[in-house]
Amino acid sequence: MKAVVKEQPGEDQMVYTEIPEPSVSGDLVKIKVAYSGICGTDIHAMQGTYPSTRPPVVLGHEFSGIVTEVGPEVRSIRVGDRVTSETTYKTCGTCSYCKSGDLNLCGSRQGLGTNVNGSMAQYVVNHESRLHVLPSNVDLLSAALTEPLACAVHAVIERGQVRPGDIICVFGAGAIGQMVSQVAAAQGAVVIMAGLSCDRERLQIARSCGIHRVVDQQEENLSEIVAAMTEGRGVDMVFECSGAVPALNTGLEQVRKKGTVVQMGVFSNSRETIATDLILHHEIQYMGSRSQKPSSWRLALELMASQKIRPEKIVTNISPLEQWRTAFSLIAGGGGCKGVLQCNEGLEPAE
Ligand SMILES: [Zn+2]
Ligand SMILES: [Zn+2]
Repeated sequence: MKAVVKEQPGEDQMVYTEIPEPSVSGDLVKIKVAYSGICGTDIHAMQGTYPSTRPPVVLGHEFSGIVTEVGPEVRSIRVGDRVTSETTYKTCGTCSYCKSGDLNLCGSRQGLGTNVNGSMAQYVVNHESRLHVLPSNVDLLSAALTEPLACAVHAVIERGQVRPGDIICVFGAGAIGQMVSQVAAAQGAVVIMAGLSCDRERLQIARSCGIHRVVDQQEENLSEIVAAMTEGRGVDMVFECSGAVPALNTGLEQVRKKGTVVQMGVFSNSRETIATDLILHHEIQYMGSRSQKPSSWRLALELMASQKIRPEKIVTNISPLEQWRTAFSLIAGGGGCKGVLQCNEGLEPAE
């Protein structure tokens, strides 16, 4: 089968090549991949700056597809089922985080597309317990975005606990910022998305998704807008999804006293100075939100099934698998919002 493989550590070292199809045994399920999303971590893996990637490995962890084969122990999944899969392949199963369902925090976790062959290929396998059969009204393209949506669900609902009426500000107009904004709006929050002029196309997508106030910080004064919307108090919560420390510091200035700041972005320079004085003097709750866990997936699929979220609206490019390199470069260069690779054709009739 065809696959996009990171062959060795370091910059690039990627090929589109032929590798053997994976086989099933035990509780493994083989999935014919429909779509595989291009994540920021795939771009970092290509650049050789993502330490979790263990080459040689097929990249990709955000996908949907159709089951073609199941191992002898599989009970709940059938050939022909339309599915998506959690990114976890294996955990230790015995640590306190595994026991509480926080699989994203297990120290021996192995993930698809990092330690184990991922979904930028015609087929991928994962354990039965990690799969989710799609609700009938969720199409395969939307389903390929369940992973970034689950990351947003984890941050907004499970970590930040956004409530109806909260006024929140999201920094970053990429896929994660868009998903966070949509989930927060679905929770009944008033959402301000803050970006830069280079994000013009992405900010337009947020507008078309009904995000309440979209701000180009190089054209408009964010502080004035926040002050006007919050009677001078500041927003209740900030989500940092841009990966830029200056954005985080702006967020710390915009959040109210006793407000919450959730960091989702990965800072390339994690030693840059953060405004810790504001965290102290304003009694700000500062928390991290890392990827997603099984409960986040269930909530994400419920949100999609209820049509409260339309993740496919952020997809700007769908490319055939063999054109992965062009698709990666486009996203890496800030073009479009979400890029998706089509790994097999004709799995779902076009609308
Ligand atoms: Zn991802
Ligand atoms: Zn564990």
